[in-house]
Amino acid sequence: MKLQLLPGGLFIEGTLRQDYRFNPLNGALELSLEEAAAEDGCTADKVTAVLACALASLAGQEPDRLLVASLVVGDRQFLMRQLSVLLDDSQRWLSARCSDCDAVFDLNYRPSSLPIKSAGQDFPESAVQINGTSYRLRLPTGADQSNLDPRKSSEEQQLQLLASLLNPIPDVSTLSPQDIEILDQTLESMAPEVALQLLAPCPHCQMENTLDLDPYQSLDSSPDALLSEIHRLASSYHWSQQEILDLPRRRRQHYLQLIESNRNSHTMEAGH
Ligand SMILES: [Zn+2]
Repeated sequence: MKLQLLPGGLFIEGTLRQDYRFNPLNGALELSLEEAAAEDGCTADKVTAVLACALASLAGQEPDRLLVASLVVGDRQFLMRQLSVLLDDSQRWLSARCSDCDAVFDLNYRPSSLPIKSAGQDFPESAVQINGTSYRLRLPTGADQSNLDPRKSSEEQQLQLLASLLNPIPDVSTLSPQDIEILDQTLESMAPEVALQLLAPCPHCQMENTLDLDPYQSLDSSPDALLSEIHRLASSYHWSQQEILDLPRRRRQHYLQLIESNRNSHTMEAGH
């Protein structure tokens, strides 16, 4: 199997490790991913639960939630997008309204075709100067996101998060907009990133429009489709639920196609 690499990575005993591997995709994994996505908690908690379930190895270790939560946000978004490529890399359609002429238009993309930016040289921590004081600034992780106080406004959360990434921790009230700008730029230069926006020219007026992409789109899938597939296979072949869940996804889909084509030929015979 091709070695897969994170655009950032984890430092394990002083060495940067970027390797990861997903578990083989079968019904059992799909069902546990959907259950993990449905757990209580904030988006960051769900992402941690889903990735801990999906990954067979991470940075040479057997992943648990603690290890997954220690990944920087860009790596977590990258893994969620790779997971959606693994689950279904078919064309996605987006509908947009042109910001200039108001026309509605569609565009499509494949998750695997979206660009990825590797981490910068100082990843995941670099030195910054604010008001004559030297700080270490590190990139935010999943654990940092999970620790945000949901009762606060998103601006307050962002400010709190920014302060917690600095060592020593400054008094947030002393940070000017220019200081925050410098910190944001430093974070941006270090961070691994996946594309979170698509540029699309309007087919009517050629105006360039920016469309948002959800990096956590695969959290939204519901188990309904999988459960109905299990039902169809169980009805036709009388296999147990466990036997069906153990089938690799490709084989499950092949059997479903056979059931479908068999049903169609019966319908045609009945029509004669
Ligand atoms: Zn337009």
